[in-house]
Amino acid sequence: MNDWLEAGRIAGIVRDYSKKIVNPGARVIDIVEELENKIKDLGAGIAFPLNLSINERAAHDTATFGDERVITEDDVIKVDTGAHVNGAIGDTALTIVFKDEYKDLQRASQKALEEAIKIMHPGTKLGEVGEVIQSTIESFGFKPIKNLTGHGLKRYEVHTEPEILNFKTDSNYEFYDGQIIAIEPFATDGEGYVKELRETKIYMFLRDVPTRSPHERKIVSMAKNDFHSLPFSKRWLPRFVGRDLILERLTNQGALYSFPVLSEVAGGRVAQFEHTMIVGDKTVVTTKSLE
Ligand code: MN
Ligand code: MN
Repeated sequence: MNDWLEAGRIAGIVRDYSKKIVNPGARVIDIVEELENKIKDLGAGIAFPLNLSINERAAHDTATFGDERVITEDDVIKVDTGAHVNGAIGDTALTIVFKDEYKDLQRASQKALEEAIKIMHPGTKLGEVGEVIQSTIESFGFKPIKNLTGHGLKRYEVHTEPEILNFKTDSNYEFYDGQIIAIEPFATDGEGYVKELRETKIYMFLRDVPTRSPHERKIVSMAKNDFHSLPFSKRWLPRFVGRDLILERLTNQGALYSFPVLSEVAGGRVAQFEHTMIVGDKTVVTTKSLE
């Protein structure tokens, strides 16, 4: 279990450090690179590209090469970070706002996470967790996002079953002792659903495919070996003409999985908090704040 605790500890430090550097006027690319470098400086690997998703963008956004975006006072910013130690992953997120008018939205997601953790024990039912998340978010006057979920984690696998839904269901699935999961309630003042944008910055290795193109072979090899089949950023790849077309082709062939940017369908603002934990009679939050 030590690797899971260490990965969680490092992911938590980086998540909390983001509060110091995510400020109006800061460049998205500088924030993302500093946080990713901090994971490595602390002795862990990057489990997935630092996700920095702003306003109606809920997840899977990150910086690109030459990214000119700058944080503004009016933004609702999700920082979702992942560190791994020998493949054991800490996955954790927070939301940063500057204006008072967004504090309730921020709090709704944070409180939903706290309430869900309170009831998480061996035997807790998946449907009950969703119910607690939904009712907490609704008590603030917002909606949970129904097609974004928490999840199990395994070594070198960020997303495994079960999908931990952020709303009430009659699911009788029971969590078990020693299970490693991430809970991540998303709250919005929009419709409560996300859609995929035609914008992809994050990919992951799925399987080898026959190819004669050296560029394709290089990308597949990096995805599989350098990035350990974990999600990776386009920004981490060598830059060459036609690279985007190759990524698209490899995705269509099933060699890579793509994670398009996810955006709230009605353009609502989105808040997210997330912790990774080991389920037990005393559930251990591996990514808990050390502040
Ligand atoms: Mn996450
Ligand atoms: Mn997650």
